[in-house]
Amino acid sequence: MRKFMLDETDKEAALENFKAFLTSLDPTQQKQSFEVTTKIGANTLPKAKIFFTAKAYIKMRSLVDTTSSEIGWHGIVEHNESGYFITDIIVYPQEVSGVTVTTDETEYMKWLYDFEDDVFNKIRMQGHSHVNMGVTPSGVDTTFYDATVAQLAKDDYYIFIITNKSGSTNAWIYDKAQNVIYDPEDIVIDVIFLNPTQTATKWTEEVKKVVKAKYAAYAAPAVKANYPAKSKYADVDKEYYFDGYSDTMKPYANATDEAIMNALGNRSGRGKNKGKNKNKNKNKNTDIIELGEDKWYTNENGVMIKI
Ligand SMILES: [Zn+2]
Repeated sequence: MRKFMLDETDKEAALENFKAFLTSLDPTQQKQSFEVTTKIGANTLPKAKIFFTAKAYIKMRSLVDTTSSEIGWHGIVEHNESGYFITDIIVYPQEVSGVTVTTDETEYMKWLYDFEDDVFNKIRMQGHSHVNMGVTPSGVDTTFYDATVAQLAKDDYYIFIITNKSGSTNAWIYDKAQNVIYDPEDIVIDVIFLNPTQTATKWTEEVKKVVKAKYAAYAAPAVKANYPAKSKYADVDKEYYFDGYSDTMKPYANATDEAIMNALGNRSGRGKNKGKNKNKNKNKNTDIIELGEDKWYTNENGVMIKI
């Protein structure tokens, strides 16, 4: 969190500090520097809230998900004491490549001035995708941000967003009216549904109450012949297996036969007795398991196969 500009009190305080600095110069150093910070303590102000409408959020995510190059867009923003509401996303004329977005100034201005005043005045957000890269602004980005912010009227605000395909998102709010710059750590982003009291965060918190982690049951070697658990891995087309030691599935493609056999043995608690295991599996009928409408059996390698 930073101040946009130092106010008179800040300037006076900085001058006092500078005077003190001048009277205590280090005689052994030829060059000495004095720093002025615009930083505000993180808890001085509450975090700023950016709310996307569901429409705006889905548009933004769809745009990023379906575009393999960088791409930029504007947001229609409304601001009140509750937060900054991004009600829609619009895509401006641009030329995109893997790592850059350029705009033809004439074409862009023509596009921009075609909007009615009530929309034009709400175009207060620029976002762009970093595709699969991190969401830290590049030198080009910060130069663009500086140039945009320099044009803001003294009671104006502007939001910048960088996101990527994995959903990482950084936002900055330059609020000149409040004299505050909110950095990503000072901002909470959420999505509102049609009912404005319902947000994506509230919804996910609510639904997670009925979702229980079951990994422990899969991981515990003490669980004997846990077939329903086993079948879940067969269900993903044998791409993964569970090694029985950690709760992370391992790709079959990278596994040696021995590793897979060990894993299956460990998981079922029968790893030390492969001979017995094998004989049992020869009789398919004894190992057929029904899960819903599907039937499964265990083949000679101990792998669950859907019939
Ligand atoms: Zn960028």
